[in-house]
Amino acid sequence: MQGRLIIVSAPSGSGKSTIVQYLMQEHPEFNLAFSISATSRPPRGKEQHGVEYFFLSPEEFREKIQAGEFLEYEEVYQDRFYGTLKSQVEHQLEEGQNVVFDVDVKGGCNIKQFYGDRALSIFIQPPSIDELRRRLLHRATDDAEQIERRLAKAEEEMSYAPRFDYILVNDDLETAKAEAVELLNNFLS
Ligand code: ADP
Ligand code: 5GP
Repeated sequence: MQGRLIIVSAPSGSGKSTIVQYLMQEHPEFNLAFSISATSRPPRGKEQHGVEYFFLSPEEFREKIQAGEFLEYEEVYQDRFYGTLKSQVEHQLEEGQNVVFDVDVKGGCNIKQFYGDRALSIFIQPPSIDELRRRLLHRATDDAEQIERRLAKAEEEMSYAPRFDYILVNDDLETAKAEAVELLNNFLS
């Protein structure tokens, strides 16, 4: 049986990775596999090639765009490309895994449109922009300029929320995790 798709999008710092990692580590019954995207940004912290992302140079990324290798891609920040490789997704779905996508809001809408009912799209909403800033500062993985760039983009990204199947407010983390589990239970059963 072919797998299904779970798309998780949100402004950076909303808690997407935290919630996705929780689902993948603590709920093996969902049979989740992470869709490894390609990006032209450099690795952050302990990130490894082929684990969090396939890290490519901007030139390599452009070559793959030309070759039609992406299901979708976006230049999320200037010169910072992110994209989903067709080969990667199809391989995981054929194996019967349910594939989880951590993609920007536009990519999320594109993947949902392509796969329709086979996909569940979830928008993770932070309680406020101020709280988003606090989380990004606390995460301490980006410099001040990058944080301001991410926040500047966040307001526009928030306007995409109504296009998603479900808006999950990540205020109290435990509540958000439980809500995510319920959503996946309903969708995958
Ligand atoms: P994203 O993947 O959306 O960029 P992260 O999962 O990296 O966001 O979360 C950003 C930061 O906020 C991390 O330091 C994380 O531990 C923290 N965080 C996540 N959810 C909450 C929450 N509900 N309350 C407080 N801090 C949170
Ligand atoms: P980060 O640099 O924090 O890892 O990711 C920045 C943004 O790029 C996030 O909003 C993330 O969801 C998005 N992103 C990651 N992979 C993809 C992808 O394959 N496609 C698209 N469209 N966005 C992606």
